[in-house]
Formats: sequence, structure tokens, C-alpha cells
Amino acid sequence: MMAISRRLTFGAAVTALACGDIAAPVRGDLYEWRLEAPSIPGPGLDTLSFHWDRNDLPVRVWVEDTDDLPGHVARALDVWESVFLYREFEGTLVSDSTTADVIVLRGAAGPKLRMKRLHSALAPECAGATDLDIDVANTELRLPIRVFIDPRSLPDDPGIESCLALTTIHEMGHALGIFAHSPDPEDIMFADPEVELPSARDRRTAEAVYHTPPTLQVVRP
Ligand SMILES: [Zn+2]
Repeated sequence: MMAISRRLTFGAAVTALACGDIAAPVRGDLYEWRLEAPSIPGPGLDTLSFHWDRNDLPVRVWVEDTDDLPGHVARALDVWESVFLYREFEGTLVSDSTTADVIVLRGAAGPKLRMKRLHSALAPECAGATDLDIDVANTELRLPIRVFIDPRSLPDDPGIESCLALTTIHEMGHALGIFAHSPDPEDIMFADPEVELPSARDRRTAEAVYHTPPTLQVVRP
């Protein structure tokens, strides 16, 4: 096991690179969901894919209890579970953060450190980000995945609830294994999502994620 980890962070700059790479979808009606990460050693990029193993299900999600985030996350898990025909993905809320696979926090993501960050939902009302801790060899995804949901306006802002709802679905899409952004604004996995639910393309992409052998293996702390 490598002692040094590289915390890869999906940021705006990374997003732009990823979006440039997905101009040509891997198949019709899908978008590129895999993560292109710097290959160490040497130049170039590795293409990383991940999905939760059946033995890991249900994925345990701990959510900060504020701004109805637990409600939004529970609904987001329901939405994504409904995409699959054979329960390839399931998630559940847990009360113990120390054993959680995914941690959802309120607020802006902190300093990027060495993480891969996918920064999303740049609406005025709220924003989201998902941080993945991937080792330098590009083989390990170190848990937990950290998701940040940032209400940027007051609770009585008429746009806040729908922004939180669709942003949470978007970020949980990253947490289930869609590690890139759709180039199409009609998809919930578009970098700045506007639609409220996964589109047909999002659903087909999520299914493809779970029928592609993962290159990353989870490592628990
Ligand atoms: Zn995103």
C-alpha cells in the first residue's frame, strides 16, 4: 500500500478538462463517466472507473443533519436506486460517521489538498462538490468519499429547495461512480445541472458504470 495519497479534487479546472474529453461519447446515448487522472510514474493519463461492489451494498451514507440534507440525500438515493433493474446500487443513511462510505457535509468544500474534486451546480442558490481520495498508483479509492452541499442563499429563497434537491442528486451520482460530467445540459450530470431528475442518458450511463469492470478498489480507513 502506498503511504502517500494524492487527494484528487474535482474542481472547475478539472471539470473543463474532463468535459473536453467527452466530446465523443463511448457509445451512443451515453457520456464518458470515467475519470482521467495523471499517471504516476510517467506522463499521460489513466482512465479510472469505479462502481460499488455488490458486497459493499448498501453503501453507508452519513449526512450532516441540517438544512434538511438527510431528506435530500435519502431522496437522491431513492432516485438513483430506481435507475437500476437489478439493484446494482443501494444506499442507506447511517448514524455513525466513522464507518460511513460516503460523508455529506453542509458548506463549501475546503482546500483542495491532493483530492480530485468535481465542482458542480454553480447556481446562485447552492453549490456542490465531491472529493475522491485516490492513491498515486491510481488503483485505490480511499473511503470515505466526501460530498459538500453548500446552500448559498437563505432558507426562504424560493430557489433553494429545488437547487439543493437536484444538486444532491448530482453529487450522489458522482458518489455512485459517475466520475465525469455530461456535456449535455439536459442531463443531471451536466456540470451546472438544471434538470431535476436523471435523464434517459444519465440512466443509461449509470447502468454502464455498473456493467464496466472497475479499475479502482475501495480501501477503508
Ligand atoms: Zn459534478
